[in-house]
Amino acid sequence: IRNTIEKTTSLMSFTSSPSYGSQNVAFWRTLLLLHCISTLVLITISTPPEDPVKCASGNTNCTVTNSYGTFPDRSTCGAANVAYPTTEAELVSIVAAATKAGRKMRVTTRYSHSITKLACTDGNEGLFISTKFLNHTVQADAEAMTLTVESGVTLRQLIAEAAKVGLALPYAPYWWGLTVGGMMGTGAHGSSLWGNGSAVHDYVTEIKMVSPGSSNEGFAKVRVLSEATTPNEFNAAKVSLGVLGVISQVTFKLQPMFKRSVRYVMRNDSDFGDQAVTFGKKHEFADFIWLPSQGKVVYRMDDRVPVNTSGNGLFDFLPFRSQLSVALAIIRSSEETQETFRDANGKCAGATLISSTLFATAFGLTSNGIIFTGYPVIGSQNRMMSSGSCLDSLQDGLITACPWDSRIRSEFFHQTTFSVSLTQVKSFIDDIKSLIKIERKSLCGLELYNGILMRYVTSSPAYLGKETEALDFDLTYYRAKNPLTPRLYQDFIEEIEQIALFKYNALPHWGKNRNLAFDGVIEKYKNAPAFLKVKEFYDPTGLFSSEWTDQILGIKGNVTIVKDGCALEGICICSKDAHCAPTNGYMCRPGKVYKEARVCTRVSGINVIQSVSY
Ligand SMILES: Cc1cc2nc3c(=O)[nH]c(=O)nc-3n(C[C@H](O)[C@H](O)[C@H](O)COP(=O)(O)OP(=O)(O)OC[C@H]3O[C@@H](n4cnc5c(N)ncnc54)[C@H](O)[C@@H]3O)c2cc1C
Repeated sequence: IRNTIEKTTSLMSFTSSPSYGSQNVAFWRTLLLLHCISTLVLITISTPPEDPVKCASGNTNCTVTNSYGTFPDRSTCGAANVAYPTTEAELVSIVAAATKAGRKMRVTTRYSHSITKLACTDGNEGLFISTKFLNHTVQADAEAMTLTVESGVTLRQLIAEAAKVGLALPYAPYWWGLTVGGMMGTGAHGSSLWGNGSAVHDYVTEIKMVSPGSSNEGFAKVRVLSEATTPNEFNAAKVSLGVLGVISQVTFKLQPMFKRSVRYVMRNDSDFGDQAVTFGKKHEFADFIWLPSQGKVVYRMDDRVPVNTSGNGLFDFLPFRSQLSVALAIIRSSEETQETFRDANGKCAGATLISSTLFATAFGLTSNGIIFTGYPVIGSQNRMMSSGSCLDSLQDGLITACPWDSRIRSEFFHQTTFSVSLTQVKSFIDDIKSLIKIERKSLCGLELYNGILMRYVTSSPAYLGKETEALDFDLTYYRAKNPLTPRLYQDFIEEIEQIALFKYNALPHWGKNRNLAFDGVIEKYKNAPAFLKVKEFYDPTGLFSSEWTDQILGIKGNVTIVKDGCALEGICICSKDAHCAPTNGYMCRPGKVYKEARVCTRVSGINVIQSVSY
C-alpha cells in the first residue's frame, strides 16, 4: 500500500500544479493511506446495507428511502404497509387484494438503488410490494442458452447462476447489487455499442407481469410477454418505471461463457472529442474515465477473447469495496472543510491523488483474484463484468460499510447521469473543455468521485429505452448535508447539466439525477404515446402510478419544485437570485459557454465564507 502511495504521490508531483501545495499533498497522502488500508485489507468484511423499507410496527406504517438514504427533494415516502411475497401465487393474491380495495401500490427492492423517487407511492395509505424474497432461479436451459429468474434476483446472482451452466450475460451495470426488476424498471446498462448494446433489458426474451385486473379476472391479471406474441406490450414492459404492474419473472437469452482481456491506458484529453466517437467501435466493452481538470482520460481497452485463453483475472472495483467507517468520516469532513473555505487547490490535489491511485491499482483489477501483476488482465466474463463486495453480508457493527451508507458519516453526493447522442458527443466535450479553459480547477470536485464515467449505449426497441447510439456521462459530486448550502464551482456542473439536457437533448438515466433533469423528458421519447397506451390498458386507474411517475411521464404536474434555494439541489433551474444562495454570494446568472443556461454563480467581489451548517 505504501509503495502505491509513494508511486502515486510522486506521479502527482509531475501532474499537478505546484500551487496545489505540498501541505495538501501530505494531507491527502495520510488520508489515502487510511483509505487504502480500509479498501485493500478489509475487503472481506462489511456491514450489509439496511433494508430501505422500515415499518413502525411489523409490516405496517412504513417508509421507504433509497440506498443513499435521501431522495433528491429530501422528502420521506410512506405507505400503510409492506408485503413480501415469496412466490408468484402470493404476489398475485397481494395485487388482487390491493386492486379490489383500490389501493395505490409500488414495487420496492432489496436495496432501492434508484436515486429518484421511483419507490414512492402517494399518501400514506398505499402498499409497498417488496421483491426481497422473490429471488429464485426458475429455470436454466444450457442448450437453449436461456435463464429464467424471479425479478428480485440480483445481478450478482444472475451472473453466478448463468456461469453455473456455462453461460454469460454479455453486458450489464458495473454494480451487482441491482435487481432484475429494478434494472428493467430504469433501463440499466453497462457499456457497449456491440450486439444489442449494453442495456440489460435488450437481452430479455420473456417477461411475466402481474397487473391489476377486473373483477371477472379476480382483480389481478398475469401476462406472459414476448417479442413474438405481444410486441407492443413487451417493448413497454422492458423499461416500465414500475407503472405497469409487478414483473414476476424474466427470461434472458445468454451467450456461451467467454473471457475478456482488459487494459487501462491514461492519455491526455487533447483528441478526446474524436476518440469518444470511434473508440467504442474498436473495443467491445470500451469505456472512459475523463478527468477534465487534469486534462486526462483513462481509456478502458476491453475485448472479448476465447474462453480457453489463459488468465483468471478478477474485477473487484475499489470504490465498491467495503471501507473503514472512520476513513470515510475523515474524508467526508475534509471535503466539508474544503467546501467551507473554498479550497479548490485542496480538492484538486486530492483529486489528482485519487485518480493516480486508482490507476496505479488498476481500479481493483487483479490478475488472479489476489494481486495485479500487469496488463492485460484476462478473466472470465462472470469475474470481470460487475462487482460490489461491500454488499457481503457479515455484520461488523458498521466498522466497515459501503462508501455511501447513510448510517455513518460517509459519501453524500448528487449524481447527474445522461446520454448524449454519439453524433453530438464531440461538440458536448468541446463545450466542457471551453468551461475548463475558463477555470481549470472547476471540475476537480468530479474527479474526487473518480472522474466522469462515460459508457456506450445503443438505441433500443424498448419504448422508454435509449433512442440513439450514445455516450452516457456519469457525474458524481459533493452534496451538502444542508440543502441551502451552495457548492464550490456549482455553476460549472449546473451548466454542463443544462448543456447536455437542453442543448443536446440528452436523455437522463431514469434511476439517477436531480429533478430538473426530467423537466419535459417525455417529449424526448418518440414512443412515449405507445408506452402510455399500454399503461392505460394495464392499469387504467393508475394504482401503480405515483405523483412522481405522473410528473416524469408528462401526465400530471411538474417535476420541479420552485422555492428559495431550490436550484442548489437541482430541484429547479434558477430564475431569480433567491433560488440560489444570495446571502452567500451565489446569484442566478446565465451560463458562461451556453448563455441559455441559468446557474447559481458566486459573484466575485463578495467575500463570504460559508457558514458551517452541514
Ligand atoms: C452503486 C450504484 C451503482 C449503479 N450502477 C449502475 C450502472 O452501472 N448502470 C446503470 O445503468 N445504472 C446503475 N445504477 C442505477 C440503477 O441501475 C438503477 O437505479 C436501478 O433501477 C436500481 O435497481 P434496484 O434493483 O435497486 O431497483 P429500485 O431502484 O428499487 O427500483 C427501480 C424501479 O424499478 C421498479 N421495479 C423494481 N422491481 C420491479 C418489479 N419486479 N416489477 C416492476 N417494477 C419493478 C421500481 O418500482 C422502481 O420504479 C447504479 C446505482 C447505484 C446505487
